Amino acid sequence: MATAEILSKARDQKRTVLTEIEAKQILGEAGIPCTKTVLAATREEAVSISEGIGYPVVLKVSSVDISHKSDAGGVKVNLADRAAVETAYEEIMASCRVYAPDADIEGVSVQGMAAKGTEIIMGMIRDASFGPVVMFGLGGILVEVLKDVSFRIVPIEKADAIAMTGEIQGRKLLEGYRGQDPADIARLQDMLVKLSDFVDRTPGIEEIDMNPVFAYRDGAVVVDARIILSP
Ligand code: ADP
Ligand code: MG
Repeated sequence: MATAEILSKARDQKRTVLTEIEAKQILGEAGIPCTKTVLAATREEAVSISEGIGYPVVLKVSSVDISHKSDAGGVKVNLADRAAVETAYEEIMASCRVYAPDADIEGVSVQGMAAKGTEIIMGMIRDASFGPVVMFGLGGILVEVLKDVSFRIVPIEKADAIAMTGEIQGRKLLEGYRGQDPADIARLQDMLVKLSDFVDRTPGIEEIDMNPVFAYRDGAVVVDARIILSP
């Protein structure tokens, strides 16, 4: 489904929260690489989609009412075969029904299992005085503890993206530290420009949260995404 259709469907349903599946479709269309992510409404569908994507896969609850999926027991990673997918499906549903009894659950998203990379966060928020700003930082525990993030007002150009990746305190981690693979910084910069371009041309986006993005020596991929629409 194209971006315009997803946005108008959400508006028709008087929703401001998009599902991860919708968010990744929109970001993918904006040129930002995301893990392949497909909705399964039943356990059998989850299996057949997993077989199409190829094991190992990840299953996650898909519900506009559950935005912190792990907290709900709604994320199962590294599922290696049909039996693992079937079990994960049942466990996710059981756990989420207890965690959020009134949640409207459309099913699970089935996604390719991304290899571990350098954890990055990217996003967009609206500042009361500056309007939309894009954000870049290191993900994982580091960002939670240190709040090591960089912001720029939309729209940004390549030079701004270069400044953003260069000014975080943990930038050495991007260059490869103590045997860790370096991150594809040029790709991350390109993703930031594409994020800014998307926000700039698309009215009504309140907030975007890509957490985590996994960055590799070559390339990077969005593993989880949230989009909130303006009320
Ligand atoms: P939450 O809604 O709790 O933020 P996430 O979608 O971020 O849920 O999933 C939780 C964690 O599971 C991620 O931080 C990441 O480490 C791992 N994960 C999620 N999706 C994938 C994936 N497609 N491939 C590999 N790891 C994943
Ligand atoms: Mg997440």
